Amino acid sequence: MQKLKFIFLFFSVLPLSLLAQELSCYHKFTPKQIQNLQVFQQKLQSGNPISLQKSTQFVPLKVHIVGNSAGVGYYSINNLMLALCEINERFASVGFHFYLAQPVTYINDDALNRADFDAIYDVAYAAKVPGMVNVYFHNAGNVWCGVYFGDLDIVLVKNSCQMPMATTLAHELGHFFGLPHTFLGWEGGNTPASADIERLDGSNCRSAGDGFCDTKADYVSQRWSCPLSYNLTDPIGQIFKPDSSLYMNYASDNCHSRFSAEQILAMQNDLLNRRISKTSAFNSVLTPPQKITPLNLDSNVNTKNTLFKWNAVPNAFAYHLQIARFGDWNFLNVDRLLTDTFAQVNLFGNWPFAWRVKAISEGNTCSVFGSIDTFYTSEQQTAVSEITGANMPSLFPNPVRKDDVLTLTNLGIGTINIYHAQGKLLHTLQAYTSGPLSIQMLGWEQGVYFVEFIGSSRRFIQRFVIQEN
Ligand SMILES: [Zn+2]
Repeated sequence: MQKLKFIFLFFSVLPLSLLAQELSCYHKFTPKQIQNLQVFQQKLQSGNPISLQKSTQFVPLKVHIVGNSAGVGYYSINNLMLALCEINERFASVGFHFYLAQPVTYINDDALNRADFDAIYDVAYAAKVPGMVNVYFHNAGNVWCGVYFGDLDIVLVKNSCQMPMATTLAHELGHFFGLPHTFLGWEGGNTPASADIERLDGSNCRSAGDGFCDTKADYVSQRWSCPLSYNLTDPIGQIFKPDSSLYMNYASDNCHSRFSAEQILAMQNDLLNRRISKTSAFNSVLTPPQKITPLNLDSNVNTKNTLFKWNAVPNAFAYHLQIARFGDWNFLNVDRLLTDTFAQVNLFGNWPFAWRVKAISEGNTCSVFGSIDTFYTSEQQTAVSEITGANMPSLFPNPVRKDDVLTLTNLGIGTINIYHAQGKLLHTLQAYTSGPLSIQMLGWEQGVYFVEFIGSSRRFIQRFVIQEN
């Protein structure tokens, strides 16, 4: 397939990204797409009535999550749920509502994970599902934040460029529906001929810049924070700053909030010509499912092929399952989107884990998780069950009041770790004798904690509760 040579650089610094990355957006339209936009803009100019669908259009979406050949580097389901939830808010003014038309699929491919062009043309294109908006999330590569190729008609977004509240996906979907940059003609640091520079007074807005008359003149082709720190001067000497609010400029993500009215009409026209949308989809928020197994506080859950099961929720498209050691949701052991009402999972060690599940509908990924249940894995049967009788470690009182002392007995020599229920290690101390050991609770917050003892030949873990006085 012929590769067109329009290169637009998109320098992007994104909020919440761990690295201060400067990545580019690469998009290119086919000559046919460019012509279609110009024809539509001439209609706008001549005041021809434009008949568009007034009702919300439900737009089918196909999500591909790309990792390396070992299956590492997947976009998290948590971020995907947020991204889809946010994109529907951002496109509400357009009258578009995206829905998951198919389950998410995974692609393990080193080259595509780096967004190599050859892999995009081969691997990504081969996985494309016709008749829907295909979006690929990939993890690596240091050049492209977002890619839209008109000849393939697919969007690629780098994982770190679509963290919560980012606007990369909205920008790339704008390209998908035919929108150019507001600074068209200035990409890559070019300066258009004077006659082709959009004037502030709008006198050449249809023929210069992006061809829209309700997007202000914009000459900035590098990433900028708003308001722009310097002034621009148009060909007749007017001094101004560009509009930072439009998704199709290169202002920082936090500046973006809208598409213009003419941009919205152009996208509606593009969607109409695609004939891929439908007029209804189930898009209500769903209540969380009832969990069946494992039971809350189950103290002896096997680590191999552990069954997680919940009740079906009517109209659910999929279920989002999360499992985290100590309930630390920042470090997930399992983060999966499932169409079944169960999953078999391998865990490890002798630990407290927490789990939660939510149901999503095809058109609404904004639903919340249900209650959090805790259970304890038992990898080696020696862990707790074989410590019996007089040598059984114990801690008392439990619950313990905040002004009281927690006493641990029969531990032996070893290390004691105390964790908050949410997983954070709060305190470590050494037991140098086998005698009782006391911990003053004054200054500790009320709540649920775990105490872990690691000795030379045994390990012990127990939950305890600190109460108000
Ligand atoms: Zn772009």
